[in-house]
Amino acid sequence: MKTIGLLGGMSWESSVLYYQTINRTVRDAGQDRLRSAPIILDSVDFAPMARWMGAADFEAIAAFLITRAKMLEAAGAQVLGLCTNTMHKVFERITAQVAIPMIHIATPTIAALQAAGVQRAAFCGTQLSMSERFLADVYAQAGIELLMPAPLQKNEVHRIIMSELCQGVVRDESRAAYVQILADLQSQGAQAVVLGCTEITLLVQAQHIDVPLFDTADLHAKALAQACLS
Ligand code: GLU
Repeated sequence: MKTIGLLGGMSWESSVLYYQTINRTVRDAGQDRLRSAPIILDSVDFAPMARWMGAADFEAIAAFLITRAKMLEAAGAQVLGLCTNTMHKVFERITAQVAIPMIHIATPTIAALQAAGVQRAAFCGTQLSMSERFLADVYAQAGIELLMPAPLQKNEVHRIIMSELCQGVVRDESRAAYVQILADLQSQGAQAVVLGCTEITLLVQAQHIDVPLFDTADLHAKALAQACLS
């Protein structure tokens, strides 16, 4: 098996899910139920990252994540995963500095959307992920249009991620707000929902909405597990 390097802690609430999903996928793929994935998890302190993000200081974020990715590579990681959608804003800058492959978080979600024949999907994520094109363009290049919430709805989606989900807080009122926002996007033609932030699955799951749901964290973790097994 290949050793997976995870750039995690952004937030750790979702890194837990990666750790669990990767290990369960590897266990279930073989005969030996004691088999687990070789993982090197770098769980960073999210507070300074969030401050840099708030200040739009992507120089600091890129420099920091490049250092951590190189550290994982030097420690023996053979494939890398960055366990957050938002930080993929600096994905190319990281991949340019390491020799090992890094799986983009959108890649397995796009594959799943294409397999399901989805061309227009509702997207929820952080303000940056919803307002800038660094993720939407990756989906668009694969023929998938992302429908984003309205401006005020984006503020609420972002607030719930940062002030609740990244702090381990799951509230029924917030779930109701997400379900309403996603229903609005469905009425605009969304055939599916993309959970474009790795913590949203703590709040919204398939049973809460009536179109197919694609969780970037789950699909990314499973793709990393497959890379480990390959
Ligand atoms: N984990 C989140 C994401 O997938 C948000 C936190 C962050 O800004 O990294 O975008």
